[in-house]
Amino acid sequence: MERSIFEKIRDGDAEAKIVYKDDYVTAFHDINPDAPVHILIIPNRKITSMNEISEEDNVYLALILLTAKKIAQDFNITESGYRLITNCGKDGGQEIDYLHFHLVGGTRLGKMISLPKNNINIM
Ligand code: AMP
Repeated sequence: MERSIFEKIRDGDAEAKIVYKDDYVTAFHDINPDAPVHILIIPNRKITSMNEISEEDNVYLALILLTAKKIAQDFNITESGYRLITNCGKDGGQEIDYLHFHLVGGTRLGKMISLPKNNINIM
């Protein structure tokens, strides 16, 4: 089966601007940034999405958060603030089937969700 683009980046077989890599996580610049800082952080173990995480992944998941904190420090946005986002599935807007977290910052990011308030049926 063809590897996804993030697997190729993880394996060094596709180009990306890597900002951090260790045995557990890889972080690289988003190719189409939505903010002055827009870094993607992936676990080095292939996990398709939040729906597939399990307790076996706990080290990967913890290290993603710690890596996000470290990268925020490296990019000098700890004081100004930032957002860490993972999209899951169709409604979440996930385009790439490999769990990834967007670290975005460097400007005021605005509202997190832009659905019109009068169009929400609470579940
Ligand atoms: P998502 O919608 O959460 O699945 O986000 C996928 C993200 O991957 C988008 O922000 C894309 O711009 C980004 N992306 C797609 N291909 C690449 C690539 N080759 N290198 C870096 N980022 C990519």
